[in-house]
Amino acid sequence: MPTQYDLVVIGSGVAATTAAFRCRSAGWRVALIDHLPFGGTCALRGCDPKKVLVGVAEALDQSRRLRGKGIGGAEPSIDWRQLIGFKRSFTDPVPRQREDELAKNGIDAFHGRARFAGPQAIEVGDQTLAARLILIATGAVPMRLDIRGEELLTTSTDFLELDKLPKRVVFVGGGFIAAEFSHIAVRAGAAVTILEQSPEILTQFDQELVGMLKAKSAALGIDTRVKTRVDSIEKTGSGFRIAVASDGLGSALEADLVVHAAGRTPDIEALDLAAGKVEHDKGRLRLNEFLQSTSNPVVYAAGDAASSGPPLTPVASRDAAVVAANMIEGNHQRPNYEGVASVVFTIPPLARVGLLEEEARERNLRFRVRHEKTTDWYTARRVGEDCSGFKLLIEEGTDRILGAHLVGPHAEEVINVFALAIRADLPASRLKEVIFAYPTAGSDIGYML
Ligand SMILES: Cc1cc2nc3c(=O)[nH]c(=O)nc-3n(C[C@H](O)[C@H](O)[C@H](O)COP(=O)(O)OP(=O)(O)OC[C@H]3O[C@@H](n4cnc5c(N)ncnc54)[C@H](O)[C@@H]3O)c2cc1C
Repeated sequence: MPTQYDLVVIGSGVAATTAAFRCRSAGWRVALIDHLPFGGTCALRGCDPKKVLVGVAEALDQSRRLRGKGIGGAEPSIDWRQLIGFKRSFTDPVPRQREDELAKNGIDAFHGRARFAGPQAIEVGDQTLAARLILIATGAVPMRLDIRGEELLTTSTDFLELDKLPKRVVFVGGGFIAAEFSHIAVRAGAAVTILEQSPEILTQFDQELVGMLKAKSAALGIDTRVKTRVDSIEKTGSGFRIAVASDGLGSALEADLVVHAAGRTPDIEALDLAAGKVEHDKGRLRLNEFLQSTSNPVVYAAGDAASSGPPLTPVASRDAAVVAANMIEGNHQRPNYEGVASVVFTIPPLARVGLLEEEARERNLRFRVRHEKTTDWYTARRVGEDCSGFKLLIEEGTDRILGAHLVGPHAEEVINVFALAIRADLPASRLKEVIFAYPTAGSDIGYML
């Protein structure tokens, strides 16, 4: 006889636990399953451990930038082994803490790969769990690239576990992971190359600010090659040989580590969705506006697995809150992704909220653009940063902030103020009136508007 649950949640990341705790608080019997140590991508293999590495690289970078401006003595360097040890002090305790929290709240935890055994049944190991409702919160995995030697690629997860950083690192793809990890690796002394097949990197960000960041990356020694397609990877005696094609011409480069940075896709392949009568198309679940399966109303999805909003932790958490409300009270909430801030944690960071300039033009909006390089502003000069700027899009007539784009010191924090303004519908003139603490990067906002 299978155990009966009100809700079976697949995954143990932000989306899974947010929904599980909410439904448990409503008095439901809840089960949660993961085949990896509990905690999900953000806490164990993504945002949090990555930012520990970024923090140390940033400290080193700042001391280099301020050399001769008050910093002297022996040049500091990154001790990779120590750094990974420091990172583990954050990640190692997570699975135990998560499991204790689940147990304390009366949520049953199962270890193993879950798959559908019917429209209302989930199989894990040799157990079958019967469910009134099911939540797919399985996150995302590196996309399959269909290139020869693909299995030789190191994932971002493996990169964060490296005991030693190899000398020559190549990133395949030019998105978030390549930008962030290349900035860490180059500060730690590696020779870094990014290979991107399209003409631009970081395509979801303002390309003028990306251009500034690219110049900074080049000055650091990062070799970014766009319009360069990776055709194959092969193992050589001591490393790897990567065959590439650029402008129709083939060539090859050698590396000690080749990292997959070419995008992630919902992790739904192993779920046996057909057995659950859950339809999907081109690697994505078919969901309605309430994040419910269009073919099996018992099933909902949230976070990276749902792929309904941008693949970010706060989005996963918001999706899960929406889904929990819909499951408990009936469908009535839809996720709203307007004004979701997102940051590339390079050094300096690049940030965005709202529309890109091209997107605002495509929507035929009438707006003015405030755009300036701010390397000579106090915030950048004080810390010796030569990559700093902003672009703001402000709607004519309504004075609404349509989009804010920042690169430079503290961009990752200042962008949140613009996110607040966008989500709270605060016009630019009202934001300009705010009396921010001085001297802070936030106080620059008044001058940007
Ligand atoms: C390197 C990296 C850096 C990132 N940095 C940031 C950042 O700075 N800021 C930000 O907002 N976002 C960042 N992200 C994205 C963020 O981590 C994700 O958007 C977020 O973790 C998604 O949460 P989730 O709950 O949807 O899924 P996850 O946290 O991925 O959880 C899904 C879980 O489901 C499990 N699972 C999958 N299939 C099964 C199955 N069949 N049976 C049992 N268990 C299964 C997986 O093992 C996994 O633990 C980063 C991602 C990566 C990879």
